[in-house]
Amino acid sequence: MEGDTNVKCRVAVVGSGMAGLVTAYLLNQDPEHRYNVEVFEIGEQLSLDSSSLSVPNPETGNTDRIDLPMRAFSGGFYNNLKAMYDFLGVNVATCPHEALLEFPAHDLIDYKKKTNGDQHYTVYGGVNQVQRKLSQGLQIRKSARVVSVEPQAQGTRVCWESTLDNLRSDTSEAIFDRVILAVPPNVVQAIFKPLRYEMSQIPTISVQSVVHSDETTIGRLSGTDILHSLSTKTLRKGSDAQIIYLRTFAEDEPQTESIHVQPSGLLVTTCPVSVIDPTKTTQCSTFTRVLRTPQSRQIITDVFNRTSSGPQVHQEKSKPQWRNGDEGVWLVGGWCWDGMVLLEGCIISSMIVADAFGVEIPWKCYL
Ligand SMILES: Cc1cc2nc3c(=O)[nH]c(=O)nc-3n(C[C@H](O)[C@H](O)[C@H](O)COP(=O)(O)OP(=O)(O)OC[C@H]3O[C@@H](n4cnc5c(N)ncnc54)[C@H](O)[C@@H]3O)c2cc1C
Repeated sequence: MEGDTNVKCRVAVVGSGMAGLVTAYLLNQDPEHRYNVEVFEIGEQLSLDSSSLSVPNPETGNTDRIDLPMRAFSGGFYNNLKAMYDFLGVNVATCPHEALLEFPAHDLIDYKKKTNGDQHYTVYGGVNQVQRKLSQGLQIRKSARVVSVEPQAQGTRVCWESTLDNLRSDTSEAIFDRVILAVPPNVVQAIFKPLRYEMSQIPTISVQSVVHSDETTIGRLSGTDILHSLSTKTLRKGSDAQIIYLRTFAEDEPQTESIHVQPSGLLVTTCPVSVIDPTKTTQCSTFTRVLRTPQSRQIITDVFNRTSSGPQVHQEKSKPQWRNGDEGVWLVGGWCWDGMVLLEGCIISSMIVADAFGVEIPWKCYL
């Protein structure tokens, strides 16, 4: 694009979760209008808000929005997310502390230190507000499953299939100057050969969240109906606190489920172990959770450490030679930083890409 002010740099963003949308938003807002951004999303809708739902609240007569996954944040740990929400003019509401189920102990200690005593929040009215603001004016190709991203001598080839037509699987392709992969590591592994080995070392699991009204799953504690006990009712009436029950099943392989009681009375069970009555089930969604191990932390540090991207020396197989931005391909996402896999990682990794593209971040940065 250098020297020709009319030709814009073509950028593909794969994935429309928080990381994909924030990156696309930042590049699309470039004051110098240097980027022509196209977002590819496998789903029929943008992914950030795609599993959230609206439900009637019989107590208030209003309609409540339930965000899935929960999308809670706090002061201390989420400085960049908070700064972006302030910039976008998004209203937030207080909420319960998050049920941090699958995180290693050292991550939890770090999180607790940074959020010590801080209130937790969610976006008032749901993250659809954020999605609407970030996606305004973006070119979005929905129902498009990206199947490969291949660096070429000139640019990078992106190949995709339409998910609308199950019978035909014609592949379309286009060349982009730069490609941003805003997808979990198991998807990067499948579509981007240069990182196949490294991404296979980052563990991911599928997590289910079920929205339902089967109160028998909460059960009784020492004979007491805990959901409807006086102390529970007092707690719920006297504050805007919400209740999350955590239950660990210690047989064979220990498993923990969380049951979040919504203001509407509906229950959201994540990682269900209890059997939920299907006739009382409103929605069941599956998400990918990226886990952290000492090895995956090392891989991520190596991939995102651009300071040591000098001449390549011989490296062990587990030491990636590919670094973020090599061959015009970048990674963003909740997992693309050395921190817990939460929304703050999405914002930080997106800001790093925007910065590398010479685009100023319009909100206060805490990098
Ligand atoms: C149960 C649960 C609760 C959570 N609670 C919180 C919380 O309270 N607070 C918090 O900060 N974080 C929370 N998290 C973590 C947080 O939700 C994630 O870190 C964040 O959503 C990751 O966003 P992302 O943009 O990196 O990726 P994703 O949201 O995974 O977005 C990537 C999207 O890319 C699309 N895609 C995938 N493959 C392709 C392809 N081949 N072609 C095109 N598109 C593709 C998919 O639609 C996918 O949704 C929670 C996660 C889970 C699972």
